[in-house]
Amino acid sequence: MKAANPPYIGRLAPSPTGLLHLGHARTFYIAHQRARSAHGILYLRDEDLDGQRSRPEFSAAMREDLLWLGLRWDAELRQSERLPLYRAALDRLLAAGLAYPCTCSRRDLAAATQAPHEDSAAAPEDDEPIYNNRCRPSKASPANTFVSGRNYRFRTPDRTEVAFIDRHAGPQSFTTSLDFGDFLIWRKAPDGDGCGLPSYQLACVVDDALTGITEVVRGGDLLKSTARQILLQRALGYPTPGYFHCELLRDNTGVRLAKRHDALALRTLRTRGVTPAEILAMF
Ligand code: GLU
Repeated sequence: MKAANPPYIGRLAPSPTGLLHLGHARTFYIAHQRARSAHGILYLRDEDLDGQRSRPEFSAAMREDLLWLGLRWDAELRQSERLPLYRAALDRLLAAGLAYPCTCSRRDLAAATQAPHEDSAAAPEDDEPIYNNRCRPSKASPANTFVSGRNYRFRTPDRTEVAFIDRHAGPQSFTTSLDFGDFLIWRKAPDGDGCGLPSYQLACVVDDALTGITEVVRGGDLLKSTARQILLQRALGYPTPGYFHCELLRDNTGVRLAKRHDALALRTLRTRGVTPAEILAMF
């Protein structure tokens, strides 16, 4: 087998907050095919940081469903076991004056520990709203050190265009202050105990960099998050991988598939006798 040069390293990054449905299966299948055709390596990354919604039984179910579909991976990691790595990245951002504490209420921050899904028609509440800069220091943020019991935001440069060429969706451009603002990178523990958790954006950037991911294949709802993540990569001195955002599957009323679409969960289809080959044929 001929190895790609530089090697292809990809990942499947499901959140164990529900059962995988056809939309996930399609994205993961594409990620799998791209890694295999490049003779690359594929990680399974369990994005289990959302303490309220992640469940071990969903982690087990997603592994089983992916294997049933015929997908294989070369290594696994679990975000809940990697907290010191995310903390180290936060410390670097704080020391560089690129992060600041935010005391806005929990309700304002509700959307930030899971991947936002920017399908405005279907779920406008899923995108992190543009922050009103209430806690942003007026001049450059001072170098800071971590204090537990606080939320932290990344200080985005003002009105800056972030452009990239998506390998599937084509040229993309987002502008800070207009498309997104200073976003949450760390969230304090709900009960005030413990040091809290990284947001999806920070954990994703750290893991993609530390595992040497060369191409990210994921749903098209995360295009705007890619712009946020590119800014974090630059701030942390990490390379920017290639991106391939897949179209989202919709149900027959045009609504993006979500974990609540139980009828289209892989397990439901499987118990009805649908075979993996029949599912893959739909893609
Ligand atoms: N865990 C995320 C999700 O299920 C995917 C994030 C990513 O691929 O970066 O939506």
